[in-house]
Amino acid sequence: MLRHKMPAQAPEERITNFREVALGFTPELALAESERCLNCKAAPCMQGCPVGVHIPLFISRVREGDLDSAAKVLLADNNLPAVCGRVCPQENQCEKYCIRREKLGGSVAIGSLERFVADHANEKGIAPVAPERGSARVAVVGTGPASLSCAADLAKAGVAVVMFEALHKAGGVLVYGIPEFRLPKTVVAKEVEKLVALGVEIRTDMVVGKTVLLDELLAEYDAVFVGTGAGLPSFLHIKGENLGGVSSANEFLTRVNLMKAYEKDAVTPVQRGRNVVVVGAGNVAMDAARTARRLGAEVTLVYRRSRAEMPARAEEIGHAEEEGIRFELLTNPVEILGENGAVSGMRCIRMELGEPDASGRRRPVPVAGSEFDIACDEVIVALGTTPNPIIKRSFPALATTPKGTIVADENGKTSVERLYTGGDAMTGAATVILAMGAGKRSAHAIARELKAAGKL
Ligand SMILES: Cc1cc2nc3c(=O)[nH]c(=O)nc-3n(C[C@H](O)[C@H](O)[C@H](O)COP(=O)(O)OP(=O)(O)OC[C@H]3O[C@@H](n4cnc5c(N)ncnc54)[C@H](O)[C@@H]3O)c2cc1C
Repeated sequence: MLRHKMPAQAPEERITNFREVALGFTPELALAESERCLNCKAAPCMQGCPVGVHIPLFISRVREGDLDSAAKVLLADNNLPAVCGRVCPQENQCEKYCIRREKLGGSVAIGSLERFVADHANEKGIAPVAPERGSARVAVVGTGPASLSCAADLAKAGVAVVMFEALHKAGGVLVYGIPEFRLPKTVVAKEVEKLVALGVEIRTDMVVGKTVLLDELLAEYDAVFVGTGAGLPSFLHIKGENLGGVSSANEFLTRVNLMKAYEKDAVTPVQRGRNVVVVGAGNVAMDAARTARRLGAEVTLVYRRSRAEMPARAEEIGHAEEEGIRFELLTNPVEILGENGAVSGMRCIRMELGEPDASGRRRPVPVAGSEFDIACDEVIVALGTTPNPIIKRSFPALATTPKGTIVADENGKTSVERLYTGGDAMTGAATVILAMGAGKRSAHAIARELKAAGKL
């Protein structure tokens, strides 16, 4: 039996709105897909899940029609299942290890089933319950998936948790980066509500390193977890990059997501270019390109390598293509052209692939004399991000790598006593589920320390 596909909005319809593209399994589809799971004894899928969800068990509960119980199995290990069911790259995780993958009609659609069960849990208000609290108090910096996962597991262990978030909304990249059409903000809000119901306090508009210092948090709390992500964008460093109409994908997506430029009649300062060039080919580039398309632009994506090297998920590349995004591959920007201080075009050069570089991918080499111009009035640069230096600058004792990531062991223990980290702040830009796994490991290590100190 072949894997069941989740229904989705048609491309011509979805480029006119910001509603979710993937519509979710119907109960009939969920049941049919759950019946494909072979309930393998060794559960190879579980080795691909960084938070250790008991996948065959929750799927067997779906098959039995006991969705409440399926939800409880899922929530026992995953604090953000409605998020993971939507944005995890399952093809490289749980579904990669499914034994149906190669010859038996394709992997079980674990992510789609996870989303189905998590949405059921949210509709019915099924959520974990916190035990009685002890005297231990932990501060968690940031409210992205690493921090949310750490805070939830600490609260479930009986710790009083206070979160400190620089922005006015909790969720990290889940609210300011990933667009509404892939991850509705209401879904993230429900996951955050569950955390608040566990007794976690969230203090927004608090920039740690400015509004409050790490030393102060370490003095006041038994331990501190830093999950500040990697939100500092990289740029091209070419002529014209300071022209009006050039932005990083992070800034562009933050303005659209947080300032709601997608809502009808919304007043926001986001530019609505008619011809937009997006530079890059990762998931962030796809999100920026598809967002610009929904704001009414013709969009060209410029990438210096070939299609085979594009780092974005195949599904995201496919969605972008269906929505009419044009790809200029083996192409590199050399200058952003301007008129009266604003972008008027981009000068590019064709590339060819040479010998493999340090990353193992073939190095792109410019083809002499192949320059050409693309007319555009907006440029969005999506070349990756690194951690923001505020934490390190305000707390130099914390060991960091030359790239700015925080040095820590496998449990997130840093060079400073009682200070833990995880997620993009430690690894550099990665994925939601890896950040969540790291937050969970740190929560368990902190809880062990607190127990040993007699505080739990
Ligand atoms: C546009 C975009 C799309 C993506 N799509 C996907 C996807 O589809 N699937 C996937 O798995 N991954 C995706 N990712 C990557 C994923 O979102 C990240 O790997 C993940 O969010 C990292 O989680 P985190 O908790 O480490 O950090 P973040 O989510 O970055 O959260 C860090 C939080 O810390 C706060 N903060 C920073 N500094 C301070 C400070 N000094 N004081 C207080 N608070 C602070 C920030 O405001 C933020 O809320 C995407 C990333 C982007 C940018």
